[in-house]
Amino acid sequence: MFTDACGFIEPTLDVLALSITTSCNLKCDFCSRDAGGRRNYLTPLDITNILNSASSFTNLRLITISGGEPTLHPNFFEIMQAAKGYSQKLSINTNGTTLTSEIIRKMKICGVTSVALSLDSSNSKLHDEIRGVDGAFNKTLSSINLLRKNGIRFTLKTTLGKKNVNELSNLIIFANTLGASKVSVSRTIPIGRAAKNYDFIEWETYSKSLNDGIKIAKELSIDLVIDDPLKIFLNKNSLNKAKDALIAGEYGGCAAGISMAYILPNKDVLPCPAFPYVLGNIEESDFKTIWFSEKANSIRNRDFLKGKCGSCQLKNICGGCRGMAYSLTNDIFANDPFCPKTV
Ligand code: SF4
Ligand code: SF4
Repeated sequence: MFTDACGFIEPTLDVLALSITTSCNLKCDFCSRDAGGRRNYLTPLDITNILNSASSFTNLRLITISGGEPTLHPNFFEIMQAAKGYSQKLSINTNGTTLTSEIIRKMKICGVTSVALSLDSSNSKLHDEIRGVDGAFNKTLSSINLLRKNGIRFTLKTTLGKKNVNELSNLIIFANTLGASKVSVSRTIPIGRAAKNYDFIEWETYSKSLNDGIKIAKELSIDLVIDDPLKIFLNKNSLNKAKDALIAGEYGGCAAGISMAYILPNKDVLPCPAFPYVLGNIEESDFKTIWFSEKANSIRNRDFLKGKCGSCQLKNICGGCRGMAYSLTNDIFANDPFCPKTV
């Protein structure tokens, strides 16, 4: 990705995430959608129209189908068929409690390349508590067994909040035992249901958990993906690498609206799944028009950042989590209040 001297970052649209339904069978503490209430669905025709529009200007690396819980969509199979062939990879993001042999068979037919399952702890009681439903952990483990039996690659996704911030290392060890190809970790953004349950974690606690996780993941040779621009502050090595990238004129950090877009079941287009900053709606314009709109372009311009982020020398390789800034201040250009940088 390229950033010009003015701080504008050329969008690449690497990942298009489709939230196909608000329906969900769990009540997760940190759900940014507050899913499970209203019923909204994207249709297979919506998917075709969106992907035709996106494929006219980009080579997508990854399409993810998520929810709510996507397998609860009445046309889940048709949706997967509609998404087939538009990207190098097709992934399903599921809470893992609903998979059956039949669903997995259909995933294979539709060319699903991996399934991402949510797991917030290797401790069943804690996972169930965070997910709001007893037995969720065991159901997810059953789904993992089915995926393994059918040879489908799977990854684990976890969101760190106050309750599970110290669970990451054990979760990585557990993921390795299960045969997961990767663990992805992000921090809780206080939006939707997460805003009601939000409890700020101190940077020291969060960064220690991530650094311990990095160490374990390296020992076990399992991929750990940290979706957080502040990972540049985890250790000296990360910061030095980021500074080298800055000198080389590279862009990095928050991917919202740059390499990622997210479409809600009501057809609103967002820059990232983590926060409801609406760029436009597919009922009113096609995806391409929304993606290149003035509103979308503004979030790609790091010169618009304010306060500490605005004057920061690292903004082109970090930019802060725009979701965190927006959720706490209602201003997408505000500081990421989590940032540990002191000078
Ligand atoms: S001030 Fe903002 S841009 Fe700079 S390091 Fe912190 S979060 Fe990133
Ligand atoms: S706003 Fe940026 S940093 Fe935050 S979750 Fe989205 S892509 Fe990641």
